[in-house]
Amino acid sequence: MAISSLSGTPVVPGVAHGPVLLVRAEVPAEAIARFAARPSAGEAEALAAYDAAVAAVTDSFKRRAVVAAGAAAEVLTASAGLAGDTGLRSAVRKHLRAGEDLLTAVGAAVEQFAGIFTTMGGLMAERVTDLRDIERRVVAHLVGEPEPGVPAPDVPSVLVAEDLAPSDTAGLDPRSVLALVTERGGPTSHTAIIARQLGIPCVVGAAGATRLTTGTRVLVDGAVGALELDPDPASAERRVAADREARQAVATWGGPGRTADGVAVKVLANVADGTSSASAAAGPVEGVGLFRTELCFLDRVEEPSVEEQTAIYASVMRPFAGRYVVVRTLDAGSDKPVAFATHSGEDNPALGVRGFRLSFDNPGLLERQLDAVAAAAAQTGVEAWVMAPMVATVAEAADFASAVRARGLKAGVMVEVPAAALLADRLLGVVDFLSLGTNDLTQYTMAADRMASDLAHLTDPWQPAVLQLVAITAEAGRRAGKPVGVCGEAAADPLLACVLVGLGVTSVSMAETAVRSVGARLGTVTFERCEEAAEAALGADDPAAARAAAAEVLAG
Ligand code: PEP
Ligand code: MG
Repeated sequence: MAISSLSGTPVVPGVAHGPVLLVRAEVPAEAIARFAARPSAGEAEALAAYDAAVAAVTDSFKRRAVVAAGAAAEVLTASAGLAGDTGLRSAVRKHLRAGEDLLTAVGAAVEQFAGIFTTMGGLMAERVTDLRDIERRVVAHLVGEPEPGVPAPDVPSVLVAEDLAPSDTAGLDPRSVLALVTERGGPTSHTAIIARQLGIPCVVGAAGATRLTTGTRVLVDGAVGALELDPDPASAERRVAADREARQAVATWGGPGRTADGVAVKVLANVADGTSSASAAAGPVEGVGLFRTELCFLDRVEEPSVEEQTAIYASVMRPFAGRYVVVRTLDAGSDKPVAFATHSGEDNPALGVRGFRLSFDNPGLLERQLDAVAAAAAQTGVEAWVMAPMVATVAEAADFASAVRARGLKAGVMVEVPAAALLADRLLGVVDFLSLGTNDLTQYTMAADRMASDLAHLTDPWQPAVLQLVAITAEAGRRAGKPVGVCGEAAADPLLACVLVGLGVTSVSMAETAVRSVGARLGTVTFERCEEAAEAALGADDPAAARAAAAEVLAG
């Protein structure tokens, strides 16, 4: 029986209808075999050929970086740097010296580096995808083939791929790419991050997608993660038009956050530095719900002085003068190593000394950061709330709160560990607010690494077990009369945001690009409908059923 639909994890909402364009990820095997059959060159000649291929790859990354923007340009520049890495070149030379032919030497050198990156874990392990992408491109040049990757579509198309390398997604033109569908990858993969930035409807983890053929017409619904094959063209176009209309409502949404019947929900922005803060402040948000301070220091070897930290925090707070900013203290460790803070050599860094735990043996680090936050708040006149990441016990929350309040600031903690959600009422006895970090809360509830694309079906915040923990936390907030927000990626999903509000959260904080779609969607539903949708989602057995149940209630 022919397949008529596929489903995956929804990442960027939006409806698109158009022909499939399959992305070829590999260099054709025949071209490699032809090259391998040639008499092998000497070491100097082979190394010169490697250098020429690397130069061509580096050059193409750099050219694309020039025309790309933001995260896309950063990804391409980083790939250019990795391709030209001298350590990688030395490894290739070593293998050539050992008598290996050029393709084998390149493969072995890449393998060696991939092993090192994987052992380092976290963000470095993520770079293995970049490394393999570079290998394919270098091999393509060596064997005289075009670089694999995204071809320029002749007509606007739905790109379908096994997985997209960061360098593939960076620099995509949203005018010719109607939607992105990948067979692998999770909601926090590079594909997802870039698709979100470009606003292209996107579904990841869609099993069977690469069996589609180029030219097949599909209807992609990025809000629910569904693909309909060969849909009725008239009804598909109607759905695209309705979606366009809804998007127009989104574009003109001007805040403040309210349900259709006027229940206030604070819509806030997640920021990382002065630039993202200034850009978010120009939009319809009531404040910052998450300032990820560690992202300011990923490249710092030494801890910045209190004065320097003050200047950095003030640059983030200043655009929000008159509004409020929730500052998160350093969430260093695990996938965000910060040289001056992180403990190295941990066997399992996601369960190790990260976030607030860094202050156990280095309390000065937290004290100095709090001094700087307080000074920046005083300088800018911003109302600063401060919260700690990775808190697991009431005693940790109490210690943190007293250090924060000693500086005249409002104190809160993130709920990222199931233990914190289960004891939310007691945490609220010692802090002023809670903020649910649903990315980590999902990872720790489901015991599934948020970076593992093979586990995307588990690292889904629609998992009813995660929603239960959100419900417990929000209910505790309601009883205590204290704010409970969500600042993980879950808040950026307009459908899920309605469910979170129905569960009782009082604010949703997200990437600036998601603010209008979440705000507009909340404005279309009553609070009572949100509560019904929340109940329906909680009663489902899996994420797909939870989404479908909530969507049905909210559409009614
Ligand atoms: C979270 O875990 O949901 C969160 C907001 O923190 P981060 O994504 O920075 O770990
Ligand atoms: Mg987190």
